[in-house]
Amino acid sequence: MTTTQRIALVTGGGSGIGLAIAEKFTTAGILTIIVGRDKDRLTAAAKQLGANCQPLSADLSDLTSIPALVQQVIDRYGRIDILVNNAGINMKKEFTEVTDEEFDRILLTNVKAVFSLSREVVKTMLPHGAGNIINISSMASRYGIPKVIAYTASKSAIEGMTKAMAVELSPKGILVNCIAPGFIATDMSAKALNSDQERKQKALGRTPLGRLGEPADIGDAALFLASDQAKYVTGVVLPVDGGNSIGF
Ligand code: NDP
Repeated sequence: MTTTQRIALVTGGGSGIGLAIAEKFTTAGILTIIVGRDKDRLTAAAKQLGANCQPLSADLSDLTSIPALVQQVIDRYGRIDILVNNAGINMKKEFTEVTDEEFDRILLTNVKAVFSLSREVVKTMLPHGAGNIINISSMASRYGIPKVIAYTASKSAIEGMTKAMAVELSPKGILVNCIAPGFIATDMSAKALNSDQERKQKALGRTPLGRLGEPADIGDAALFLASDQAKYVTGVVLPVDGGNSIGF
């Protein structure tokens, strides 16, 4: 690590979209700490990405552990320049079958953990008067998708929080943006789409580019938002979706 090297924290960086973001960041020379629950998967991912990647296992749904987690990163690396709130869980179930506990479980990881982690990281960014936060929402917050009520509520909250954070934090030097991925080929989308061909056809049918996106497509967008080229961009929700959100 050099003193000028930027430092990123990417939640869910051990798989799928988070791993692709971490790959783009590390290749661009950013020291990238990847967070997830599965220690073995994180270690393997960090090994794959090389010296610029460091694994840190944690369950972000344990909100009380978040302040100590952030402190651990600060003690070890000095600061956090970029936070990517990518970790998320999904659940596909009929509206009337979803229990209050299940709804809470999705909101806990997808919303409350994002809030708690952002709050703690922002406290460490404020003294530097600089920082970059990237949240990850979904097409579920752009239009209605059946059988994902809790996920939709969570991703709509993410887009609202992005705007609220951007207006409050941008004057203090911290940019806050959001990427809304379309249908991207990962384990999560495979679970939702492969067992439901009608849903898959529907998703692709309204995607002008006619194919699923690659995790690297989201990685490229995150790298752009974290770069100096995006220094006048804050509060946006950027769809990276092959046109899905405007598709017919
Ligand atoms: P994955 O399931 O591959 O990634 C989710 C990641 O989140 C995993 O690495 C997982 O790691 C981590 N995670 C989940 N819960 C926790 C937790 N409690 N604490 C720490 N880490 C956690 O799915 P994707 O890559 O597809 O999804 C990444 C993000 O992109 C999500 O926010 C998702 O909603 C969003 N998205 C994905 C789309 C797609 O088409 N794939 C479309 C739109 C949005 P571990 O299990 O080790 O904890």
